[in-house]
Amino acid sequence: MATIQKYKLPGPKSAEYLKMSDTYEPACTCQQAALVWDSAEGVIVRDVDGNEYIDLTSGVLVTNVGHSHPKHVAAIQEQAARLLNCYDFPTPQRVELARRLVEITPENLDHAFLLTTGSEATEAAMRVSKRYTGRHEILSFYGGFHGRTYGAMSMAGKMGTKRRFGPIVPGSIYAPYPYCFRCPFGKKPEECGLFCIEFLDTVIEVSSTDDLAALIVEPYQGGAGFIFPPDGYLTRLEQWAREKDIIFILDEIQSSFGRTGKFFALEWEGLRPNLLCLGKGIGSGVPTAALMAESRIMASLGRGEMSSTTGGNPLSCAAGLAVLDIMEEENLVENSRVVGEYMLGRFTEMADRFEILGDARGRGLVMGLEFVKDNESLEPAPELTRAVVDSLCEHGVLCGCLGWHGNVIRVAPPLVITQDQAARVCDTVEQVLATL
Ligand code: PLP
Repeated sequence: MATIQKYKLPGPKSAEYLKMSDTYEPACTCQQAALVWDSAEGVIVRDVDGNEYIDLTSGVLVTNVGHSHPKHVAAIQEQAARLLNCYDFPTPQRVELARRLVEITPENLDHAFLLTTGSEATEAAMRVSKRYTGRHEILSFYGGFHGRTYGAMSMAGKMGTKRRFGPIVPGSIYAPYPYCFRCPFGKKPEECGLFCIEFLDTVIEVSSTDDLAALIVEPYQGGAGFIFPPDGYLTRLEQWAREKDIIFILDEIQSSFGRTGKFFALEWEGLRPNLLCLGKGIGSGVPTAALMAESRIMASLGRGEMSSTTGGNPLSCAAGLAVLDIMEEENLVENSRVVGEYMLGRFTEMADRFEILGDARGRGLVMGLEFVKDNESLEPAPELTRAVVDSLCEHGVLCGCLGWHGNVIRVAPPLVITQDQAARVCDTVEQVLATL
């Protein structure tokens, strides 16, 4: 194993900017590693001091085609020089992106509504579900994250996102998500028979006023710590939604565009949501989002009843079209699956060897490393996780932590990562864990 370089963080220029940030925009940054980004290319990020890192964040699961991909950049530059925004009017770029999204999503999703941020897409899903069904309750899941605007925040089942923000949107109902490593029912996935699906009936019995419009779920929970449900859970959940005659909304803002080793995570189980929320990777850094929908549902809205000033702007759409081309030309979905399998194999082996690594889980190029004090109590170890993150950054691997207890390291590099770069990341993680 090669010796790895070590940076002293923050470097002098980063320290200067961090101080300014603390003074002028203290609410803007979550406390991640002590460095300030300057530029990036592919999977490599450079900070303002010239230190280089392999990026495991993808700028928070956004830059799926890699930072500053030449084709992506060229498409953005060309469009910027031609037309930036025109609000209500269709453009060739918007129409073409809508067509291609409809083409690659499940058949029943025959309508695309382009927006700018993920929160807008989940809000839009909430609005249209209520309009279509004439009902007003939305079921979401403990630990879920669907954005920060009021409707989106109300659908998230995590207290941290709602703390002291006043009343949430009426009709918000929550159920446990299958966090099998810390099962809320104290059960084991091999034996439970998906008890959490059975329990949904109890949740509704207790919390609903018989006015349930929809449920919204992530294929894996991002913000709660990259929590993956057991195989078959989402299929059973979709069936349950059908039986209850409610809208099944899948939030793939984070899990789509190749992230899990399929273009959409829904492909793993052949799901057919009624509404599908997309964001992040769709523009690979240019703010872009979409609500994919069945037209019978969208028909409940009149023209102009849903809109957004920059939604579907030509720049975002040109970026989105370039992303689709790059994904296909460079076979990035396959790369995500193959390199992801290699990395998860290495991390799983480390979890067997290092007691503090309680769980390594994931699919494609999205993995969570959950740290514990010891493998008996499984008590979360957030301070230790923080120390691992800092040490990894000092060794040139840029990552962050998240999760219910702040004890999960996020491993989600741009999908262009090579096998060699992945091996370097795994070697570095191994060396850092060995020193703790
Ligand atoms: N839904 C999921 C699953 C997300 O991960 C996010 C953002 O992290 C959102 C919705 C909100 O997206 P945005 O931050 O673009 O509003």
